[in-house]
Parts: sequence; C-alpha cells; structure tokens
Amino acid sequence: MKRRLEIALESLEGFRNPKIKLEQYTTPANLAGFILTNAELFGDLMTVFDLGCGTGILAIGSALLGAYSVGVDVDWEALRIARANAEKLGVSVDFVACDVRNLELRRRVTVVMNPPFGIQRRHADRPFLEKALEIADTIYSIHSAESEVFVRKMAEERGFRITHVWRFIIPLKRTYSFHEKAFKYIPVEVYRIERDDSISRR
Ligand code: SAH
Repeated sequence: MKRRLEIALESLEGFRNPKIKLEQYTTPANLAGFILTNAELFGDLMTVFDLGCGTGILAIGSALLGAYSVGVDVDWEALRIARANAEKLGVSVDFVACDVRNLELRRRVTVVMNPPFGIQRRHADRPFLEKALEIADTIYSIHSAESEVFVRKMAEERGFRITHVWRFIIPLKRTYSFHEKAFKYIPVEVYRIERDDSISRR
C-alpha cells in the first residue's frame, strides 16, 4: 500500500520555477508516503487541508487514500501544476488560491502540511502552525530539526499536544542556484499534534 502510494507520488511534477521567497521545496515521495499511511492508520484522513500545498503531493496523496482533500497555496503557478498532478492520477482535489492566514473554516479538519521552514525568514512556519491550530483537530506537520520546543509551546498554549515526533534526513533537490551540490541533506522532524479533547470526542 505504502509502496504503491509512493510510486504514484513519485510520478508527480514538482515546481517549475521555485520561488525563493516562498521557500518552495517538494516533499520527497517516500516521506509523504510515510506521513499519509500513518495518518490513515490513525483514522485521520477524513477531511484534509494541505496548507502551502505547492505542487500538491500531500493533498493528492490524501485523496488517493480516500480523503476529501483541499490544497491551499498563494502561488497560482504551483496550483496549476498541482491541478495537473491531481488529474494525472485521476483524483479530485479542491485547490484554493489564498494566503493561509486568510483561511476560515466552520468545522475542524485534519491538516497535513510541509510549510516553509524559515530558512529565509526565521519562523516562517509560525502563521502555518497558527492557522492549523485554529482549523484542525489533528495536524501532521514537517519542520526543520530542533523545532520541538517552538512547536510544543505553540501547541500547548492552544490546548493541543504533540503525540508523535518522527525524525528524518531528507535530500533537498538543488532547486535554487545558490546551492552548490545537486542534493543537500537536511534533518527534519514530523509532528503529529492533536487537540487535547479530540480523543474523547471521537
Ligand atoms: N507542501 C508542498 C510544498 C512545500 S513548499 C510540498 O510538500 O511539496 C511551501 C509552500 O508554501 C510553497 O508552495 C509556497 O508557495 C507556500 N506558501 C508560502 N507562504 C504561503 C502563505 N502565506 N500562504 C499560502 N501558501 C504559502
């Protein structure tokens, strides 16, 4: 199952002209596969919002596993690729072009996201986490290593807790010309965050 998902996700197109200011990097297919198959096992893939969906790998993967999924991004160009990616795999995903800060929902969902890490701007992931904690019961989020103190504090202040931390080293493709090597390996952490009362409300 996981392998099949990964193979499908590997076939997706990434960013054509990655915009440095938006920190556009694609999540590797095997990491996306790991996160989404776990989310499925936890029963978290009902309605999924992918904040900063880029070319759509997390939103599309969620849809492949049966979720109703929505991808949100400020970048039209990325969303156009995301839409073509969804069509290619024959899944329906709704894409919304807006700044994640402007998103408002009436009921809570699952958020799966790989937000900007703040390599360009420190804590560029803060508005993403803030929004996720506002609209989600359960969050799967990828951050640069050693974000745990920051993530935990934000979560706990809003009545959430971290239930899992998974650590990975991922290759980032040489997307931007200032990187000299074809790949750069960076340590990342994936958090599963849950609203404190969400177990009793299931
Ligand atoms: N989630 C995708 C892309 C990660 S890169 C993947 O896993 O492959 C981060 C994405 O966040 C980029 O596509 C960028 O355009 C988007 N982004 C950055 N700031 C944003 C904002 N304020 N609102 C919505 N999207 C934003």
